[in-house]
Amino acid sequence: MSTIFSRIVDGEIPARVVYEDETTVAFLDANPMSPGHTLVIPKSEFERLNDVPDDVASDLYASIHRLVPVVEDAVDADASTVAFNNGEAAGQEVPHVHCHIIPRFDGDGGGP
Ligand code: 5GP
Repeated sequence: MSTIFSRIVDGEIPARVVYEDETTVAFLDANPMSPGHTLVIPKSEFERLNDVPDDVASDLYASIHRLVPVVEDAVDADASTVAFNNGEAAGQEVPHVHCHIIPRFDGDGGGP
């Protein structure tokens, strides 16, 4: 199976890529919850966090850690929600592990 995010990785579907390294890629969400809403994914296809091997998880976390301040700064956010919807019952719609970095602004209500 090839998810829509794998097709972004392969360049078959356009996306606003904001970061890329050997194992991860980050791009702007097509339906942002706030300006700068970014998704960080492993290039390899794993459905859930539970399926991600340690080395990929480590690279993914390193990219998230690097990107959170960059995303916040880019849109002058006051904070951010950093979250995974891990599984369908949690609201995961795309079966390819992804971390949401959602910029937050004072007074926007907060929370995921
Ligand atoms: P989920 O509910 O699975 O955690 O979130 C999936 C996210 O992927 C949603 O925020 C949705 O807007 C985003 N998304 C779905 N399809 C595409 C796409 O083709 N391109 C981009 N950039 N984002 C997408």
